Amino acid sequence: MKRKIGLRKSMQIHRIPVLSDNYIFVLYDDTQPAVAVVDPAEANPVLRWLDDHNVTLTAILNTHHHGDHVGGNRQLLQRFPNAVVYGGAEDWGRIPGQQVSLVEGDRVTVGDRTAQVYFVPGHTRGHIAYYFPPVQAAEPGELFCGDTLFAGGCGRLFEGTPTQMVDSLGKLRSLPDNTRIWCAHEYTLKNLKFALTVDNDNQQLHQRFDTVKAARQANQATVPSQLAIEKQTNPFLRWDQPALQQATGHTDPIRAFRKLRGMKDLF
Ligand code: ZN
Ligand code: FE
Repeated sequence: MKRKIGLRKSMQIHRIPVLSDNYIFVLYDDTQPAVAVVDPAEANPVLRWLDDHNVTLTAILNTHHHGDHVGGNRQLLQRFPNAVVYGGAEDWGRIPGQQVSLVEGDRVTVGDRTAQVYFVPGHTRGHIAYYFPPVQAAEPGELFCGDTLFAGGCGRLFEGTPTQMVDSLGKLRSLPDNTRIWCAHEYTLKNLKFALTVDNDNQQLHQRFDTVKAARQANQATVPSQLAIEKQTNPFLRWDQPALQQATGHTDPIRAFRKLRGMKDLF
């Protein structure tokens, strides 16, 4: 179907698989010279893409300070010294080349789209997420959530508490159902294997597991996911569901979450 003249073309997102299971995301727009990259674990695959498309990097959006998210920052800055490096205020000093410190509610503009910043500590103490609301009503929003929310799971608690993580996941869970979830790792199949051990009566989870298993066998990516699917099948967004309360032995969300995360850590 042809787009109506006058409608803005939506931001395009290109996924680059790197390392063993990381994804780097390139945000671009055919009508704009501006290109942003989210969590460049490595520089070379990004540089190749930029050269192939003959475009300039204008922004690096980091979600947190871990090496598999910021490892390419320095080399990208050498090639594109005017690129602006964004990261969370709590990560100041831990993200190479960081120039802008973001807190909850801040906005980051990429081309003609603007992301809202969410402070989502738990995996690390400074973790942030970038949410691009839709421009047209029918479009999905785009969420770049690093290692906070995964397809079928969530990040390990390295620097934060269960209370912080429940609060962070609660913020992401309240976004619109059709939001696309661009998480930073291809962990979906293993996450869903664990999910089945705690939510086995969930028919949607079984269906999703089959779909994801087939996709991985065909070497296809399972990212992006969609928030509606996560709410139906991701145990780490289902702390208030009876099945999860039963599996963890807790009705209190923090206790249920702590127990669930502990079970996953040992899985
Ligand atoms: Zn991480
Ligand atoms: Fe990571």
